[in-house]
Amino acid sequence: MSKRSKPGKASDTDRVGTIYRALRRAIIEQALEPGAKLPEDAIGERFGASRTIVRHALGQLAAEGLVELRRNRGAAVATPSWDQARDIFDARIAMERLVMQRLAGQLTRPQIEQLRNHVDEEERARGRDEPLSIRLATEFHIVLAEMTGSAVLEHYVSETSSRCGLILALYSRPHSSECAVSEHREIIEALVEGDATRAVAVMDQHLEAVASRALIVSRPNKGKDIKDILAGYVNAENEKGRNGARR
Ligand SMILES: [Zn+2]
Repeated sequence: MSKRSKPGKASDTDRVGTIYRALRRAIIEQALEPGAKLPEDAIGERFGASRTIVRHALGQLAAEGLVELRRNRGAAVATPSWDQARDIFDARIAMERLVMQRLAGQLTRPQIEQLRNHVDEEERARGRDEPLSIRLATEFHIVLAEMTGSAVLEHYVSETSSRCGLILALYSRPHSSECAVSEHREIIEALVEGDATRAVAVMDQHLEAVASRALIVSRPNKGKDIKDILAGYVNAENEKGRNGARR
C-alpha cells in the first residue's frame, strides 16, 4: 500500500490500487454482497480506468479470496461454502492467537491509546452507521496484527478477517454478527494485563462467539435432536395422510 501518489497523472499501479481498495472496502462493508457481479466495463467506467486495470485489481482481490473469477461469466464477490467458512475461521483463530501471544504485555502507551480510541469509534458508529461499524470491527483485528510488527501476521490476519466479513454477510442475519464492542475492550485489557494465556483465551472466546453467531444461524438444526428436526415433517406427512386416506 504505497502512499507516494504523485500529483497529476496517476500511474497504472496507483489506479489498480485505488480500484482494489475501493472494491475491498465495499465488500468488507457489505455494500457489495457475496455473489454480486463485478463487471469490468462498468467498474472501469466508474473509475475512468481501462478494463486491463480493473482486471488487475480484481485479480488481487481474487488472490485474497474476496472475489471469484469465473470463466466466461466474469468476476463476482466470493461466496464461500459452509466448509470453507469454518476453515477460514479456524485459520483466523490460530493466527490471532499468535497475535495475542506476541502483544501480551508488550503494548506501548500510544498503542493502548490507539486501540481504546478505535473501540470508542466502534461504539459511536454502532447503530448509526452500519457499514462503518462493520468495517471498524474488522479493522480492530487488523490493527492488532499490525502492532506485532510482523508483515506476515498483518497480511494473513487482514486476509482471513476480511473473508470472515464475507462469511458473516452470507451466513448470518444482517448486522447481527459483528464483533461486540465489549469483547474488544476485554481484549485490550487482557493485553495490558500481560497474561498471555488469558489474552489468548479472551481472543479465542471472542472469535468463537463471532463464528457461532454466524454459523449457528446458518444451520438452525445443528445440535438439535433428529426427532425434533423431523417432528415438523412427521406432522405434515400425517396431515397429508389423513387428507388422502380415501384415495
Ligand atoms: Zn472482533
